[in-house]
Amino acid sequence: MTLEEGTPVREDPDVVVIGGGVVGLFCAQQLRRRGATVTVLERGALGGPQSCSAGNTGFVGTHGAAPLAEPGMLAIAVPGATDPDAPWYIEPRLAAELSHWLRHFRRACSAEAAANGFRVLIEMKRRSLAILLELCASENMAALFESPGIVLAFKTPAGFDEASRTVARTVAGGVPLRVLGSGELDELAPKTTFDIHGALYNPEGAYLRVPEFLVEFGRVLRGAGVEIREHTEVTGFGIRDRNIVRLNTTRGELRPGNVVIAAGAWTAECARLAGMDLLLQPIRGHSLTVAMPPSAPGLPVLLSEARVAMVPLGDRLRIGGQLELTGMSCAVSDHRLRALRCAVRDFLPDLEETAILQSWSGLRPCTPDSLPLIGPAGDLRNLLVAAGHGHIGMGLAPAGGELVGQLLAGEQPFTDPIPLRPNRFGTPT
Ligand SMILES: Cc1cc2nc3c(=O)[nH]c(=O)nc-3n(C[C@H](O)[C@H](O)[C@H](O)COP(=O)(O)OP(=O)(O)OC[C@H]3O[C@@H](n4cnc5c(N)ncnc54)[C@H](O)[C@@H]3O)c2cc1C
Repeated sequence: MTLEEGTPVREDPDVVVIGGGVVGLFCAQQLRRRGATVTVLERGALGGPQSCSAGNTGFVGTHGAAPLAEPGMLAIAVPGATDPDAPWYIEPRLAAELSHWLRHFRRACSAEAAANGFRVLIEMKRRSLAILLELCASENMAALFESPGIVLAFKTPAGFDEASRTVARTVAGGVPLRVLGSGELDELAPKTTFDIHGALYNPEGAYLRVPEFLVEFGRVLRGAGVEIREHTEVTGFGIRDRNIVRLNTTRGELRPGNVVIAAGAWTAECARLAGMDLLLQPIRGHSLTVAMPPSAPGLPVLLSEARVAMVPLGDRLRIGGQLELTGMSCAVSDHRLRALRCAVRDFLPDLEETAILQSWSGLRPCTPDSLPLIGPAGDLRNLLVAAGHGHIGMGLAPAGGELVGQLLAGEQPFTDPIPLRPNRFGTPT
């Protein structure tokens, strides 16, 4: 079925999607495409700073399909073992709360689990890219999607050598990564001086401009008949005979046929209102958006050892990164913003300091194995979860939305949904 312009929406829709971040919006798109009447409930404004989808670096494409859990990450799975200045940080006070998540994270750090995770994620990223290309073919959306490739810069010989050793395996996995020869980086970023040891390049690197992408996508969805209610928070569920029969919100009640929880880092909290436990942890990141420095690179660059990304947004440059397991607080930390700027100075010492336009932090909804939670969960017959897209939610959301659409429509899913089962981690012990 195709999207129908201006189709009227009845009071109680076939499906309510809770959450208007990138995941919720793609669920809505794919459900509407299959003929369902859909209402999205978002407690803030679409593209507002409360959403993790609003201030990130927007990388999509085949870059970044590796799970966060991999053999080298075992050391971080000990609460408090990391330094507060490190790119990865776990707050010691959260140790007990985190222990179940960290246990599964440790398990996912084996080479075999990481390779299996990569296979699932790269398939989802490829599928997502195809959906994005179709969506962004229209004039208004086209300006919000760029595909110049991505540079992975390495400061240290050890970092570069280790990454270079993985190139053949990454290429075999379907990602066209290659080592940049001398002079090639100058061609890709002619105005920029790097102080680095070496660099890799993935020509399939692409990115979305957020938050503009969310706002424009919302407009496209509304035009296709999706109702989006902003400033509307879901506060409770009425349940009868294993079915959600009522949704309580800050702006009245709804009685949808099905419910999809796509509430990002708040999904566990929301699912708890329906009597369900999900294993999700928020991993905080920061971004800083500055006026475009004259010598900034004109394509995305990852400052690899620092785990910091830079992305050009017209007259602005966004710098983002860091992974902090510090609970549900979205407070912006000056200390973390300084660390982002230090990383940039370290890799690009001549980059001009320009005015700060926005400081932001957001909560990545993360599972221990970096695979999202998509599908039915718990005992409720008319509830699906679509969350846990972690550090690569922009790049996974379109395919995740398609899977939700296929599962609810009873179609053959494009990928095996078993590795994505929301209850795969069991209940906390
Ligand atoms: C610094 C940083 C950089 C990143 N860079 C990238 C990148 O380059 N590429 C990439 O792919 N990913 C990146 N990510 C990850 C990406 O941002 C997330 O994976 C993605 O935004 C998650 O989307 P979501 O829709 O699940 O969550 P969100 O965008 O957080 O959306 C969830 C929404 O649900 C709403 N909500 C919650 N509870 C309720 C309720 N009860 N009722 C109604 N609404 C509710 C919230 O207000 C929120 O807007 C980055 C993240 C960070 C922090």
